[in-house]
Amino acid sequence: MSQALSRRRFLTIAVTAAATAPLALHGLEADAAAPAPASAAKPLPKLALTDPTAKALAYSEDATKVKHASFKAGSSCLNCNLYKGAKGQTYGPCTIFPKNTVAAKGWCTAWAKKP
Ligand code: SF4
Repeated sequence: MSQALSRRRFLTIAVTAAATAPLALHGLEADAAAPAPASAAKPLPKLALTDPTAKALAYSEDATKVKHASFKAGSSCLNCNLYKGAKGQTYGPCTIFPKNTVAAKGWCTAWAKKP
């Protein structure tokens, strides 16, 4: 390889590196500023029994202790169509209470049998 070709090759690599380095750093900054993945999102707080909607719907964290007239034996959040918790979780989301989680073994008067 001639000295002129070697110098040209060196300059090409140096210019390319200088031009692309800011792009690479920009990509890193963008990654650092990106929102956390949903799995890292802060978990929803458990529904408080004092919540006005919870009270209105006679929400209980333990279906076995419910004495409500509309309670059906065996019903609980776990087998409610509005419960969105994963199997095995003790608390999970419910479409009636979007800002909270409800107890899997809980119950309320909005209970709807899972199809
Ligand atoms: S709507 Fe269903 S899942 Fe939600 S609190 Fe009532 S019984 Fe539980």
